[in-house]
Amino acid sequence: MAGPIELNRTAHEHAAALRAGRYTARALMEATLALVRQQEASLNAYITVAGDEALAQADAADKRLREGEAGPLTGIPIAIKDLLSTRGTLTTAGSRMLGNFVPITDCTVVTKLRAAGAVFSGKANLDEFAMGSSTEHSAYGATHNPWDPERVPGGSSGGSAATVAAGGVPIAVGTDTGGSIRQPAAFTGVLGLKPTYGRVSRFGVVAFASSLEQVGPFARDAEDVANLLGAIAGVDASDSTTAPVPVPDYTADFGEGFDGLHVGVPVEFAGDGVEPGVRDAVERAIAVLEANGATIDRDVSLPSASAALPVYYLIAPSEASANLARYDGVKYGFSVHDAPTMWDEMEQTRGRGFGDEVKRRIMLGTYALSAGYYDAYYLKAQKVRTLIRREFEQAFAGHDLLLTPTTPSVAFKIGEKMDDPYAMYLNDLFTIPANIAGVPALSVPCGLSDGLPVGLHLIGRAFEEGTLLRAAHAYEQHTDWHTMRPPAVV
Ligand code: GLN
Repeated sequence: MAGPIELNRTAHEHAAALRAGRYTARALMEATLALVRQQEASLNAYITVAGDEALAQADAADKRLREGEAGPLTGIPIAIKDLLSTRGTLTTAGSRMLGNFVPITDCTVVTKLRAAGAVFSGKANLDEFAMGSSTEHSAYGATHNPWDPERVPGGSSGGSAATVAAGGVPIAVGTDTGGSIRQPAAFTGVLGLKPTYGRVSRFGVVAFASSLEQVGPFARDAEDVANLLGAIAGVDASDSTTAPVPVPDYTADFGEGFDGLHVGVPVEFAGDGVEPGVRDAVERAIAVLEANGATIDRDVSLPSASAALPVYYLIAPSEASANLARYDGVKYGFSVHDAPTMWDEMEQTRGRGFGDEVKRRIMLGTYALSAGYYDAYYLKAQKVRTLIRREFEQAFAGHDLLLTPTTPSVAFKIGEKMDDPYAMYLNDLFTIPANIAGVPALSVPCGLSDGLPVGLHLIGRAFEEGTLLRAAHAYEQHTDWHTMRPPAVV
């Protein structure tokens, strides 16, 4: 094989090089692991970096390539958020509670990625149980932003975002309950997609808030997002919330540009809380859409969207308090054995196994669900959720896409918001409504503010991820923000 491998490529560029025999999947993976290990000293993007099993996966991919059986992901390195169960590989959810948990089965998404021939670079760092917006709430240390190591990469899928942004791997998977794919994508200058609720199986994904979360792709261009989504989407007999909707070719509409797209910019999201540098970058992006055939409508309103954040912080902790009840020290995971009674053992297991943010969520959720408060909080939040869903349906009657900034600010300093949970929660002001409504949404890099990446947020109709990706692809034809890389990283 000739020359060193250029790692800073998209997955489809690697796929073409592999098919052309310019290098092997094994050589690509060896180079990837060497770079990832080197970058770990400054990023801490992984909880587990893959070892020899990745080389065995790469050898299997090479066999498929030789036999002409390769698809777009065959032999492509991919990072997996450490919330997704991987058979035989530690799966911690970023928690001490699962510090010794080695699953006996793969989650459905990992099964599909193996079938596609992807090669796993490792298990990416995250906020504990995906609760957070900075990856600082990990029991395995914070992940650093490749654009500035003193800043957070966002969260909770911060490790997945950071390793893609740093050029360690071209693609990764994360999960998004309230913004955990899109916010870190925005903070690190890569693309991140939250699929429609029910588009991707949650079977085998450590549960946080089951009615809100989806697994989704990170990548450096729309074509890679489309191919990765195509590989992981689809109905699954093991997850009854997946929808029996056929999986299209998500690149099918890539030639169509912005022509005929009606884009709404909701008044509620243009507001005062947005940093000037973020607002400017998003306004410039809107001008690109408008100049190239999209119709922009600024007369759109989602009046109940301002209630999405409080609704989320009732529904998500309520579901979390139920989902996390299983960690009792008896069945699996961290366990305290030497307390005087069973109740003491359980109390100490949970007291020492969970971090502060997780305990805060369990307390919030248990309170919201308790007798006497259920109607006032949880039930009311569900009613407002229905209102928000209806407002989205109305907005989509006349628009193909809605457009907002992904986040009100760029990446903040490590430590800056750790003592102020409410300031941390405000990061997801623009991303949470799509989870509440169950609709798909994508963050696309659209500029820099003070040298840090800004994300453009596109929200689509249920099961119309293809329209989001068509718009992102068109945007990439007119701008080159998706090609920008952090200055300090290889
Ligand atoms: N930041 C939000 C939270 O802390 C969303 C997290 C997520 O999407 N998993 O709950």
